[in-house]
Amino acid sequence: MADRVVGIDLGTTNSSIGYVASGRPTLIEIDGSPLMPSAVGLAPDGTLLVGRAARNQRHLYPERTVTSIKRKMGGRAKVRLGEEEYTPVELSAMILRRLKQAGEAALGEPLRRAVITVPAFFTDAQRTATREAGEIAGFTVERILNEPTAAALCYLHSEAEPRTLLVYDLGGGTFDVSIVRSHGDVTEVLASHGDTALGGDDFDAIVRARFGRALNADGVEDTDPRVDARLFRAAEEAKIKLSSETLVRVSEEHLAVKGGLPYHLTTEVDRSEYEELIADLLERTRDSVHTALKEARVLAREIDEVVLVGGATRTPRVAQMLHDILGLAPRQEIDPDQAVALGAAIQAARIGGQATSRILIDVSPYSFGTSYLGLLDGRPSDDCYMIVLRRNQPLPTRQSQLFYTMAPGQPATEVEVFQGEDPVASRNQRLGEFRVEGLDARAPQNSPLVFEFSLDVDGILRVEVTERHTGLKKAITITDAFRTLSDAELEEARTRIAGALGGDSPIEVLAEPIPEPPPDLDSAGRKAWVSATSLIEKAERLLPGLDAADYAEVDQLRNALRGALRAGDHEDAKAQAAALSDVLFYLG
Ligand code: AMP
Repeated sequence: MADRVVGIDLGTTNSSIGYVASGRPTLIEIDGSPLMPSAVGLAPDGTLLVGRAARNQRHLYPERTVTSIKRKMGGRAKVRLGEEEYTPVELSAMILRRLKQAGEAALGEPLRRAVITVPAFFTDAQRTATREAGEIAGFTVERILNEPTAAALCYLHSEAEPRTLLVYDLGGGTFDVSIVRSHGDVTEVLASHGDTALGGDDFDAIVRARFGRALNADGVEDTDPRVDARLFRAAEEAKIKLSSETLVRVSEEHLAVKGGLPYHLTTEVDRSEYEELIADLLERTRDSVHTALKEARVLAREIDEVVLVGGATRTPRVAQMLHDILGLAPRQEIDPDQAVALGAAIQAARIGGQATSRILIDVSPYSFGTSYLGLLDGRPSDDCYMIVLRRNQPLPTRQSQLFYTMAPGQPATEVEVFQGEDPVASRNQRLGEFRVEGLDARAPQNSPLVFEFSLDVDGILRVEVTERHTGLKKAITITDAFRTLSDAELEEARTRIAGALGGDSPIEVLAEPIPEPPPDLDSAGRKAWVSATSLIEKAERLLPGLDAADYAEVDQLRNALRGALRAGDHEDAKAQAAALSDVLFYLG
């Protein structure tokens, strides 16, 4: 068998190595995580440390630890590490070598060939430096791949029609947005624009400054480096919490001394205040989106998919802003920290001649929300609908949203839970309702109620409402949030959609993972397995374009073939594969 090709995301903060097995891209865990810190250190006893151990010693021995070496790639300046000096290429090679060793240990085979990703804006010198680092680490570098192309590959599957994607990448320290076009197996970056000095760290700095002002208002200075470091840590924690919660309470005890007494900081930040604080930063990214579109000569409405990359894109305001600009909900079912490495693994497998199938992630297939009193077509209505949990979120997921009481001393509120996207609540699927009684009789109008929706992989939806200032809670659990339509209703809806749109059905066919081949299969069996796998993939590519009758036939055959493979029934698999192959032949 030819050597396997692996895909590597050599990142500023973290790096990952991935490969494809039975069509599925997978990342290798290193020290218990698929993300390895891109840190290199020299322990006091001279041991070379790469990854988590190096990052952990950074606070103790900053002069013996290097991070963010990617920012220096392509430059000649050497970097000091303890008593030694190394070039950026050598330090990157150490990171790559650690990834290689971890991959070899996990897969039990030598890994010699790699695809390595770089930012689209990297110059030739930076690309050459990355290639050299790969070679020093012992790889044949098969390709230097642009990061946005890699991320796009996670969401594409050899589409026959050209697709245009916008990849929005907001990491810890850098931001870029790229327009990527894909046609068949060719995927290219049309334009890329960004800011190498904008990222999640700036969001931390803004929240940190807000805490600083709270301190100053109490007459306490925030310039002490120890205070500064604690405020930064608290700021990042608060920022991350505000991605799923509407309010965070910060409490930093013994932060400083005031008038000879210990000073504790306690403060609250709610999501709307946070969103105002970061509005200017997001506005800068909005400008880059427009610039990239202009440079690519692509109109906003020509974008087929929006893809999110980088941890900071978990900020809900990011997806909302992109939705506003492009009229499309961004894809975020693949972990934004892993999309580049998974895409690199897909490209690597293609170079190695391996088949790949779609990445399957458990995501919420529907949006969930509640009704509220608001304006519908300019008129007050209690049939307005607000989505709290957006569809396509990886599961489990949790999100909260603030609502406000209508009247002072309002004794109770009705809560209705729906599944769907229609702005008119009653046009969505109603899942349940409950009443929260005993609200504070002395509360003024507009007292906040926190609605928290949480959903797990099994489709269990829990909705909890809390009166914010009293802590009064009431909740409902809906055990079957995904299966609200019966099989017959589903089939009817499918036929209706297919009929209404002719052959151009929008039904999304997500491939389930193809079962792993049994280890004891001989070479003929393995070949049959591979060809059955590629038949299933072909069927799944064709399915969305088929009319109702062909759809039903192909769908049934691909499921039967998958079932035979899963059961290890080779004879049945052979028969099912032959039947599917015949049908696909006629469908082209
Ligand atoms: P990356 O460089 O892609 O790993 O992105 C790291 C950045 O993402 C850091 O600034 C993190 O604080 C930020 N980040 C991670 N998780 C979240 C979250 N849930 N919400 C907002 N920012 C996050």
